[in-house]
Amino acid sequence: MKKDEELSPELRRVAREGGTEMPFTGTYVNNHENGTYKCAVCGAELFSSDTKFDSGTGWPSFTDPVNLEHVELKQDTSLGMARTEVVCKTCGAHLGHVFDDGPAEAGGKRYCINSVCLDFKKK
Ligand SMILES: [Zn+2]
Repeated sequence: MKKDEELSPELRRVAREGGTEMPFTGTYVNNHENGTYKCAVCGAELFSSDTKFDSGTGWPSFTDPVNLEHVELKQDTSLGMARTEVVCKTCGAHLGHVFDDGPAEAGGKRYCINSVCLDFKKK
């Protein structure tokens, strides 16, 4: 687990203050390698390349977390929108949001996650 002062300013802004990185700027938007995406703050396994898909939104998108036990879903009504926030259950880092416009054949969910909150470990 990293301490807040060890986080990069961008990671601190997103993970600790609920910010959002600019679309198409994140490291993992177009990453197609096989592996696991861990929490950049605490190292918990969050997402797998198996469920990553190209959503065209500019953020890494997944149909499912590795384990629903590893994430917490919270109602978020900021910015006048009703959204569901995705938070790392282990360390409380804000990761992104989940929407209902994912691929229907994979359950219809789209976990829209900020690259900066993820740490990719290649298989
Ligand atoms: Zn975490």
